[in-house]
Amino acid sequence: ASRVVTLGETMGLLTGGRIGSLAHVSEAHVGIGGAETNVAVSLSRLGIAVTWIGRVGDDSLGRRVVREVRGEGVDVRAQVDPEAPTGLMLKELTGPGTSRVYYYRAGSAGSRLAATDVPAGLVESVGLVHLTGITPLLSDSAREACLSVVRRARAAGVRVSVDVNYRSTLAPAEVAAPVLGELVEEADLVFGSPDELAYVVPGGVADDSSAIDELARALDPTGGREIVVKRGADGASTYAEGTVAHAPGHRVDVVDTVGAGDAFVAGYLSGDVQGWSVEEKLARANACGAVMCTTPGDWEAAPTPAEIEAFLGADVDPVQ
Ligand code: ATP
Repeated sequence: ASRVVTLGETMGLLTGGRIGSLAHVSEAHVGIGGAETNVAVSLSRLGIAVTWIGRVGDDSLGRRVVREVRGEGVDVRAQVDPEAPTGLMLKELTGPGTSRVYYYRAGSAGSRLAATDVPAGLVESVGLVHLTGITPLLSDSAREACLSVVRRARAAGVRVSVDVNYRSTLAPAEVAAPVLGELVEEADLVFGSPDELAYVVPGGVADDSSAIDELARALDPTGGREIVVKRGADGASTYAEGTVAHAPGHRVDVVDTVGAGDAFVAGYLSGDVQGWSVEEKLARANACGAVMCTTPGDWEAAPTPAEIEAFLGADVDPVQ
């Protein structure tokens, strides 16, 4: 059972057609995006069977979400909620390789996700459940859905992965921290940037590498978890079984870093469900993250194994 299941909100995404404030830019591209389906699509590209659970509105963007994610080979279990619209994100291009995202998701169909949306027996039948810290901050019912899924997974001996993915627009840190902490508590695999990990550890700071080492230890007091620290252009590190493995980043021409974190997680999980070593998982994850930085779009360019091979073959100047 190496199937992965994930749940969360996927929204319509309008991206400005050129660099500039959306107060003035008049063209935009229509697409979709959401952290969990970004991960799901990436996993599917990597040949891993994956199910996404979510809610969409009874509207054109909802139909687009279902069609596009399903079109990527993801098993889509989306409830259509007639009472709320599909959420929306606007992406403003602020400069070469930089952007700002605005969310229109309060009260959306996706945020009304509930534990009853998760089909009976599904969680128990998979190899790994992946959640992000976004979903439990969407609403009380979405938080209940997350907690029920992780409890079911743990009871069935299914691995649980959590990407902290703290979004300050959803809740202030003091509200988010205990909610994220409660999810991380149940996880076998935890992903986060140093700052995100510091949010979850009471009084935690991520000032330097020894502070990060301390955060990882605080998140894994009994030594049973894998703590994966995403460090952007510097690559990533995994703390597991009392040791740490570092993997340097690849030097790439950055077009758009949005989605790198999700591709990274998918790369890591693709190895995890196949029983790979920490070093192998980090290498694939770093490659997936780097490839995503070289193309626009949050998930569209998620690489296949052949594309990863080609990227690594052409990467004659890796950062040491
Ligand atoms: P986001 O939420 O914006 O998708 P994140 O904060 O979750 O990103 P990052 O640490 O920015 O995650 O990036 C995830 C991974 O992608 C990094 O660990 C690295 O492997 C790769 N990556 C990100 N930025 C770069 C870069 N500039 N050059 C090379 N690799 C990168």
